[in-house]
Amino acid sequence: MSTPERKLNASCIKSYDLVVIGAGSGGVRAARIAASHGATTLLAEESRIGGTCVIRGCVPKKLLVYASRMGMEFEDGRGFGWSFQEREFNWGALMGNVANELTRLERAYETTLRSAGVQIANSRAELLGAGRVKLSANGQIISAKHILIATGARPVADESLPGWEFCATSDDVFEWTTQPRRVLVQGAGYIALELACLLVRLGSEVTVVCRSSHILRGFDEDLRVCLQAELSTAGIQFVTQQTLAGVTHVTGGLSAELSDGHRVEVDAVIRAVGRRPNVQGLGLEVASVGTDERGAIAVDEMFQSTAPGIYAVGDVANSIHLTPLAIRDGHAFAQAVFGAGPRPSRLGLVPSAVFTTPELGTVGFSEAEAVRQFGTVEVFIARFRSMKSVLSGRAGKCFFKLVVHGGDGRLLGAHLIGPEAAEMIQLLGIAITAGARKADLDATLAVHPTLAEELVTMRSPTRRYGMSEAA
Ligand SMILES: Cc1cc2nc3c(=O)[nH]c(=O)nc-3n(C[C@H](O)[C@H](O)[C@H](O)COP(=O)(O)OP(=O)(O)OC[C@H]3O[C@@H](n4cnc5c(N)ncnc54)[C@H](O)[C@@H]3O)c2cc1C
Repeated sequence: MSTPERKLNASCIKSYDLVVIGAGSGGVRAARIAASHGATTLLAEESRIGGTCVIRGCVPKKLLVYASRMGMEFEDGRGFGWSFQEREFNWGALMGNVANELTRLERAYETTLRSAGVQIANSRAELLGAGRVKLSANGQIISAKHILIATGARPVADESLPGWEFCATSDDVFEWTTQPRRVLVQGAGYIALELACLLVRLGSEVTVVCRSSHILRGFDEDLRVCLQAELSTAGIQFVTQQTLAGVTHVTGGLSAELSDGHRVEVDAVIRAVGRRPNVQGLGLEVASVGTDERGAIAVDEMFQSTAPGIYAVGDVANSIHLTPLAIRDGHAFAQAVFGAGPRPSRLGLVPSAVFTTPELGTVGFSEAEAVRQFGTVEVFIARFRSMKSVLSGRAGKCFFKLVVHGGDGRLLGAHLIGPEAAEMIQLLGIAITAGARKADLDATLAVHPTLAEELVTMRSPTRRYGMSEAA
């Protein structure tokens, strides 16, 4: 938002207790909490308030996911007695409504920040050294007792790929004014799959090209295999163990060349092959702020970088790239430096979701990690058709897996694929964080008829590791 009224009033900016660089999830929370503790706080943002989550991440993505599921509801309705005339989906109308919602959220964030006493600089900021920051918009130099870097991450833009300039990133997708008919997505991480899935559900033909044999590297193996099968059923064409070799402009679209020489004609190529910490031109060297091997700002458990008085939270720091972690760390930083309350630990259990359709929810140890770490492990698996899909005739099954400590029965992990898996994993995350055991699930009365009741009715282990059969 290029609002002249957000331009700095140069005369009122001199010295602050805290300068936060980046108004995304982590920066906004840190600035607000610091100001609420009485710290004079300046928040510098070079783009839009809200950052990746609000403007080009979680929020627009989830709104598009909702849209992508509505067509399925129409189709499923036939088995429940509904009939429809023509259905029509209008990408432009959807994107217009999404844009309005993002603007509303951006304004709401800004209002909340200003009410808390945070000053906002609509400007890029760079470090000049210990306790000093330069605002690019007006060249002003600010001094600060503490500086928090919360500049997030950006899509990897590998310019060595021939034709990279014809490719889109996730950022661009949220700016598209028309929906491409044929799309190639490079990558098999959660962002690649969410975009691929929402586009296929909205009617695009989608090909996903990935280097590995299965999607979602690092997730539980069963989740990887099951979700790939479900998404294939949904219409995504997977080309595995291949990479993108180049993209050329051809009449009527783009031609994507794969590493085996095959060509795929599409209207758009999305590259979603990872995200890099946003540190370019930030002045890290000048300020002696060290980075790790991934280029992320190295911080300790107090979010302190290698330079005294300079801290980092969120995607730019050596953290997992998820909004709740950026928020929690931003809050914890401000609380620790300006408040008095206890600080939550940096990592701990991280429940997360992949908003494909079907959804995936995961928390805790994968089966393989649990066996490596604990040796004795029991695994409970349920695969079943949902009640709704019986009448709708929709193919696909839900997959629920519980990973349990073979000795004390502690729940070590839970991995779900199915409708509302994200909602379910949030609640299971509470139970697992509280130290729940499998016996606690067994003792919980089922809510019937639900999908989640399967979680409390899994009786016999599907697999056991490091335990005698009699155990
Ligand atoms: C497509 C997509 C979907 C996602 N979906 C989810 C999801 O479903 N759930 C989830 O938990 N997470 C999701 N994420 C990740 C989540 O958005 C990020 O982890 C989170 O936004 C990180 O917050 P942050 O504060 O670290 O950085 P950001 O939110 O990226 O904010 C950084 C801000 O700093 C600004 N900035 C950068 N450099 C400067 C500078 N020098 N001066 C001034 N300003 C600067 C940027 O413009 C930006 O506004 C998604 C990400 C993407 C890309």
